[in-house]
Amino acid sequence: MLDSSAMNKNGMVTTILTRIRTEPFKTFYDLVGKELGRGKFAVVKKCVEKATGNVYAAKFLRKRRKGQDCRADILNEIAMLEAAKSNPYVVELHEVYETSSEIILVLECAAGGEIFNQCVADNDEAFTEADVIRLARQILEGISFLHRNNVVHLDLKPQNILLTSAQPLGDIRIVDFGLSRRMDDKSEVREILGTPEYVAPEVLSYEPISTATDMWSIGVLTYVMLTGESPFLGQDKQETYLNISQVNVDYSQDTFQGISSLAVEFIQSLLHVDPRNRSTADDCLNHPWLNTNPHTLNPTTTPTTLEEPETSQSESEPESPDSSPE
Ligand code: ADP
Ligand code: MG
Repeated sequence: MLDSSAMNKNGMVTTILTRIRTEPFKTFYDLVGKELGRGKFAVVKKCVEKATGNVYAAKFLRKRRKGQDCRADILNEIAMLEAAKSNPYVVELHEVYETSSEIILVLECAAGGEIFNQCVADNDEAFTEADVIRLARQILEGISFLHRNNVVHLDLKPQNILLTSAQPLGDIRIVDFGLSRRMDDKSEVREILGTPEYVAPEVLSYEPISTATDMWSIGVLTYVMLTGESPFLGQDKQETYLNISQVNVDYSQDTFQGISSLAVEFIQSLLHVDPRNRSTADDCLNHPWLNTNPHTLNPTTTPTTLEEPETSQSESEPESPDSSPE
C-alpha cells in the first residue's frame, strides 16, 4: 500500500531533507497571541523562538484524519516547501517538530494575513489595479519558479496567498502546499480536488492535471482581486461546477468598472477550458498588462482604457503559447 520510493505514482514525494525534531516544541517556542488561521486539518498559531526572539507561524497538522494515517501527505507538503526554498515568494520553512499525534511546521510568519481579506474589503481598503499588478507579478514569479521545478500547487486561492504586511501593502507569500504534487513523473495525476470555486475544468472532469491547472486558478484569483467577486461561484456546488465547465464568466463593463481592458485580456488568456490554450506563468509575466506603467492606470474613475485598448504593441492574439502537443 505505502510507496517507499521518493515519489509515488500520483506525484507525492515523501523523502525530505529537513530533520524532524522530536523534542517538545514548547521547549523552544512560546505561543503568542491568537490563532493566525485554520483550515480543514490544521491550526496555525503565532509563536516566538526563545533563542532568537524571532516570530514564526506554527502550523499544527494532525497525522490522523478521518481515521486515516496522513503522515505521508504531511511529508509531501514538507518536500514541496523544500523544493521552493530559494524563492522569496514562497513561505519559508524554518523547522519541523513531531509529536505522537501531530507534525508542526515552523514557518516564516506572513503578518499581513490572507489577500482574501482585501479582496472582499470595502473600497478604501480594497486593492487598486496597480496593487494587483504588483502582487500578481509576485505570485507569478513564485509560480513560475515552482513550475520550472515541476511542482504544481493545486490549491491557489485568496486564503493561501498571504501578505508580509497589510498596511502598508507588503509582498506576497504563497502558502499551503498540502495538495501540491511533483509533475516530472510519467504517470498522471488526476484525483486531487481543491476548493470548488477555484478549481480548473480538468479537475472536475477527472482529466490529467498539469502546471496549466494552476494557471486557471491564477485567472480566477486575478478576477477576484480586481473585482471582489468570485467569477464561478453559484448558489450551490452543482451550479459552480456548471459555471466552470461552461466558462460562464461575467466580463461586463459594470463588473470591471475602472479596470483596464488589458486586465480583462489577461484573465481571458487564462480561463480556457483546454489547458493547452492557457498562458503559462512566463507568458503571463510577459503580458502587456503586467508591464503597464501603474501611473497610466486610473484606479478611481471610469474605464478610460476600455475605450482605447491599444496602449502597447500589437498583442491582439495572446492565444496558444504551447499549442503543439508532444
Ligand atoms: P490548510 O492546509 O489547513 O488550509 P494553511 O496552510 O492554508 O492550512 O493555513 C491555514 C491558514 O492559516 C491560512 O489560510 C492563513 O490564514 C494562516 N497561515 C498559514 N500559514 C501562515 C503563515 N506562514 N503566516 C501567517 N499566517 C498563516
Ligand atoms: Mg489553506
